[in-house]
Amino acid sequence: AVFLENVRKDFGKVTVLKNINLDIKEGEFFALLGPSGCGKTTTMRCIAGFENPTSGSIKIGNQEVNRFAPNQRNCGMVFQSYALFPHMNVFDNVAYSLNIKELRQGNPFKKIAVYTRMLNSRIVKYTKTIEEKVMGILEYVELLDHAHKLTGELSGGQQQRVALARALIMEPEVLLMDEPLSNLDLKLRHTMRNTIRRIQQDLKITTIFVTHDQEEAMSMADRIAVMKDGEILQVGTPTDLYSHPKTPFIADFVGTSN
Ligand code: ATP
Repeated sequence: AVFLENVRKDFGKVTVLKNINLDIKEGEFFALLGPSGCGKTTTMRCIAGFENPTSGSIKIGNQEVNRFAPNQRNCGMVFQSYALFPHMNVFDNVAYSLNIKELRQGNPFKKIAVYTRMLNSRIVKYTKTIEEKVMGILEYVELLDHAHKLTGELSGGQQQRVALARALIMEPEVLLMDEPLSNLDLKLRHTMRNTIRRIQQDLKITTIFVTHDQEEAMSMADRIAVMKDGEILQVGTPTDLYSHPKTPFIADFVGTSN
């Protein structure tokens, strides 16, 4: 679960988030929907810890995380631009973050080295556990056959699935997705909607999904927050928003008036 209470964010003299309150439930697929520049990405970056709110409180689970660095927040992120390492193959892209996590937890080479690979021109030894986990998740996102390809050789949809695998392998408490489908063509976007939804439901992972595409939000989300100019105008299920839009802007935006 994720809670935002009176979150405000100023950049210099400009207030980008005015007074954001959100109560996102465990296992929920929650969309932040609004036009360009309304503050969706900034809200996400505050949750992930890449920005600090000017005031207000953010909780993940029961824990207030305001002072936590991004890597302490247990959030997995998927971006519009994938942000994969182009010089690494699919396996290494996914294993990399896991390897870092295990190193950080101090039990790196216990079951040493079934595997050695070149990574960032260093030799990194993958343990059997890491390999099994990575192959497991690649199978799950239907990329097993591509494990040894460079990510640059993949299609957009495949690259986005690598990004998803890389986020999920950390077993995050919350999955944050910022416009993950907007670089894909229409057909692929529809396929990926289903893939993401299937995985989210299987794992029951709390997911926050940023989009400016009302149809995407309406077709995927359990609940949607409609944002405009740094404020949340309404939170509800797709049906709520469609049948009882609070303002003409929302009616227009979710398509009731079309
Ligand atoms: P988009 O869909 O276009 O990404 P958005 O709804 O995600 O839009 P944000 O990216 O959160 O909106 O931006 C909200 C406002 O904050 C915009 O006016 C943007 O110019 C401004 N903004 C974002 N980051 C910064 C920053 N680091 N410094 C100054 N202004 C910023």
